[in-house]
Amino acid sequence: MYESGMRYNSLNHYLVSKYNERVFKIALNGGMTCPNRDGTLDDRGCIFCSRGGSGDHAAPLSESVTSQIDNAITTLHKTKPGIRRFIAYFQAYTNTYAPVEYLERLFTEAIMHPDVVCLSIATRPDCLPAEVMELLKKLNNIKPVWVELGLQTIHEKTADHIRRHYTLDVYDDAVIRLKNAGLTIITHVIIGLPGETETDMLKTIKHIISLPLDGIKLQLLHVLKGTDLADEINDIHILTLEEYTDIIIHCLEIIPEHVIIHRVTGDAPRKLLIAPEWSLNKHGVLNRINHELKVRNTWQGRLI
Ligand code: SF4
Repeated sequence: MYESGMRYNSLNHYLVSKYNERVFKIALNGGMTCPNRDGTLDDRGCIFCSRGGSGDHAAPLSESVTSQIDNAITTLHKTKPGIRRFIAYFQAYTNTYAPVEYLERLFTEAIMHPDVVCLSIATRPDCLPAEVMELLKKLNNIKPVWVELGLQTIHEKTADHIRRHYTLDVYDDAVIRLKNAGLTIITHVIIGLPGETETDMLKTIKHIISLPLDGIKLQLLHVLKGTDLADEINDIHILTLEEYTDIIIHCLEIIPEHVIIHRVTGDAPRKLLIAPEWSLNKHGVLNRINHELKVRNTWQGRLI
């Protein structure tokens, strides 16, 4: 049976199988910005992105990477004494959007921390120039490096609407280059984007699994205060928990078993979330998805 208790190939299950113990993510602040925010491509950001650059749980920038990791471990030990292994996760903004010398200092400090087993870097596929690819390849020889690409959708109409500012072929090309460099690739997809049907969302999943992918994050669309999406709230359909559960199960059914499911919902900060309110009960959402898989007597959509 699966250690995580979930009826799909969850990240927890993968990590416990690999390290024989739980491994925890530490969200780090690398002091980045994003071409979608600094005026290079746009100065407004994606319509759903909060001022924290989709990294509202990260540590303050004033601390060094080592201090951020040590402080996070101290905090985690208060509720989970004895945990020993951690993933250094650069989440907020675009974490390869800086001079390569700066990135090298930052990422090397994180990956060399003795309690860090893996480096995870969230970025955009249009921010992976050759010198950054070389750096990531080099770091991957020290410890595993995961690159998390924020694709969200394959549909250009939606991509224009959310102001993503790169085309699908840029993503496809980045996946091939990352794979050729031996890196682990995780793609972020948002479920419930304005104007998208379930068929559209499943087409996105089908496209990304046709490429050499290692992991997927399925992220519920959150409407957050202070975003342009919040101004559209009366014009968009907010998924119900029932609709969301069904879509997630249909996604899981078509995702190959070797692809690790890093996430099936999301963690919006309570103080920023406008909708959907039901998503605040993350355990409730996870339990419901798992319960539905159990009722259907399936493991990730496959009959058991
Ligand atoms: S690319 Fe990422 S960090 Fe930049 S605006 Fe969009 S969601 Fe935010």
